[in-house]
Amino acid sequence: MIKNNADITLIGSGIIGLLTAKSLIQAGATVTVIEKNASSQEASWAGGGILLPLYPWRQAQAITDLVIPSLQLYPQISAELIATNALDPEWTQCGLLITQNPDIDVAQKWCTTHQIPAYPADATLFCTLHSKALHPLWLPSIAQARNPRLLKSLRAFLAQSGVQFVENCVLTDITFKNQQVHSINTTQGIFAINQLIMATGAWTGQLCQQFLPTLQLQPTQIKPVKGQMLLFNAQPHTLKNMVLEGDHYLIPRRDGKILAGSSVEHTEFDKSTSPVIKDRLYGFATTLLPALKNFSVTNHWAGLRPGTEHGIPYIAIHPEISNLSINAGHFRNGLTMAPASAQLLTDLILKRSPSIDPTPYQLTRNL
Ligand SMILES: Cc1cc2nc3c(=O)[nH]c(=O)nc-3n(C[C@H](O)[C@H](O)[C@H](O)COP(=O)(O)OP(=O)(O)OC[C@H]3O[C@@H](n4cnc5c(N)ncnc54)[C@H](O)[C@@H]3O)c2cc1C
Repeated sequence: MIKNNADITLIGSGIIGLLTAKSLIQAGATVTVIEKNASSQEASWAGGGILLPLYPWRQAQAITDLVIPSLQLYPQISAELIATNALDPEWTQCGLLITQNPDIDVAQKWCTTHQIPAYPADATLFCTLHSKALHPLWLPSIAQARNPRLLKSLRAFLAQSGVQFVENCVLTDITFKNQQVHSINTTQGIFAINQLIMATGAWTGQLCQQFLPTLQLQPTQIKPVKGQMLLFNAQPHTLKNMVLEGDHYLIPRRDGKILAGSSVEHTEFDKSTSPVIKDRLYGFATTLLPALKNFSVTNHWAGLRPGTEHGIPYIAIHPEISNLSINAGHFRNGLTMAPASAQLLTDLILKRSPSIDPTPYQLTRNL
């Protein structure tokens, strides 16, 4: 058995795993992170980094309850990372233009309730766009993070803070003794366990069914949902703010590169890209922002979102196994909801009174 004295062993180094590890070590716990690839190569890397759900007023209250505190935590997380290591996660309040809002009254009410500044968008925001606008809304305070950099920066911060990373190490089984997780089998050996957290994104439903088949409560709702993205090698200032039109969006990075996303495909664990989706995203992007025709597409990729019904994650200690917890199932909004999700699970594990009501995120919701 590999020596592992950590208070917490956490499987998965996506945004949910890394921010949960951060929250736990800052509360005084010791953490080992186990990851099947090199760190953070899955959904959290593949995502766009918009820090707001698309049309948040159409989402469940349980999503809003994680989104709003997370938005407040991001500036602090970004400042902390910049202060302690060189890599800037590029948290940027570039603003979000939502061009079509048939439900404008509901949208404005949601923004007012949650103190998110929202204005009718004026013509200057459209001067380079070819949009079919309907009650367009301008949200100047909405930010993005450059997610691949955020993940790298977090990993460096955590390693400096004493978190042990065991990478290229696949979880292959979980063993129990007296109704507790006793150890885990991995491709690098057997690890003793004090507390185990599954932050395994789209794989969580499958892993729990495979390794915890006798448990009544399962996060089986979590299924992979593929999303494809395109990257244009655009010049700085081609686009200043994020734009959402219909189901698709553009995200300008600080160095000028522009992402166009995304597809929503129920294709199991298949991460291949397709020419059909590439053409669709290219058509969307170059119609909305014709200047993009002048720039090459330098990357096209896909990631697997941890899909759940209504996009509500499981953030809970397992009711049948008290040293097993789950933080997974954030579907389209894991980057946005991660800070508050991490905080909530930390509160539950450390038996602190949580600032968010944990009820909607429990495994018992399937009963
Ligand atoms: C195209 C696209 C665009 C998106 N855009 C946005 C956006 O703009 N804003 C937003 O908020 N969200 C966005 N999302 C959603 C967001 O990316 C996800 O909700 C989030 O990344 C989920 O994080 P996670 O840590 O749970 O999962 P992941 O990042 O997938 O991490 C899970 C980790 O677990 C590891 N793992 C799995 N099985 C094992 C095993 N057996 N052993 C060891 N390790 C294992 C995986 O390798 C992986 O590293 C987007 C997603 C996609 C695909």
